[in-house]
Amino acid sequence: MNRYFWRYWLPLHIIAFVMLFGVALGELTINWWLVLIAWLLIGPIGNGVGSHKLFAHRQFKTWRPVEIILGVLSTVGGFAPIHFWVAIHQKHHKISDLPQDPSSPSQHGFLQSFLIYRLKESTNKVISLQNYCSRQIFKDPILMWLSRHFIKINWAVFLILLSIDVNLLLSLYVLPVLLEHTRENTVSSITHMNIPLINYRNFNTPDTSQNNVLIGFLTLGFGWHNNHHNNPRELVNTHRWWEVDVEGQIAKLISKGQNANK
Ligand SMILES: [Zn+2]
Ligand SMILES: [Zn+2]
Repeated sequence: MNRYFWRYWLPLHIIAFVMLFGVALGELTINWWLVLIAWLLIGPIGNGVGSHKLFAHRQFKTWRPVEIILGVLSTVGGFAPIHFWVAIHQKHHKISDLPQDPSSPSQHGFLQSFLIYRLKESTNKVISLQNYCSRQIFKDPILMWLSRHFIKINWAVFLILLSIDVNLLLSLYVLPVLLEHTRENTVSSITHMNIPLINYRNFNTPDTSQNNVLIGFLTLGFGWHNNHHNNPRELVNTHRWWEVDVEGQIAKLISKGQNANK
């Protein structure tokens, strides 16, 4: 297991378990509005629009302060440091569902693709940083600072909120982070599995990527994954009227208009 697992993922999940036990006993309370707002910020905006659309695919250009805000939001999502997010995602697109793809459920099983691959030391060793989008991160001192201090930044946020109020910590950080992890884990696994009725393909891509009706809506667009694999640099992944892509629309809103597609 990697450093991220021991120093962040495992302790956070133990704490989350204890806190949820506290909720069940009536000792702690959840403000679901705060959970929703915080998740929208760190999840679909920080990780979806920031780490995925902007940093991993350079689908659009935006103003520098917006880039930094997206980098900060993605970092406090606790999913992965930006440079790791970009590198592993680039690898996934390059070799989707081949044996070397660490997050392919058809090659390595559901649990690996859902979670385990990103907690393993071996995954860090196989990802390549020699791609255009990774090089852009390495050239950016602020994104690199956020990446290098990813674990410290997340524990700092944790401690600041804890010092204010433990219920605030639960609603503003712990639960939104768990939700976001579930969202991204679900996309990396289920949208590469052949599930009848809810999974379908618009494009005959060489990988096993699927659009998932349920995940497409619940993830605010991240789950129209076959559309995304067909053209990873496309800003809005809507190809049928029901394929609502909130992430794509947010990206469009903050784009300077110089889409890398053109
Ligand atoms: Zn994929
Ligand atoms: Zn992608």
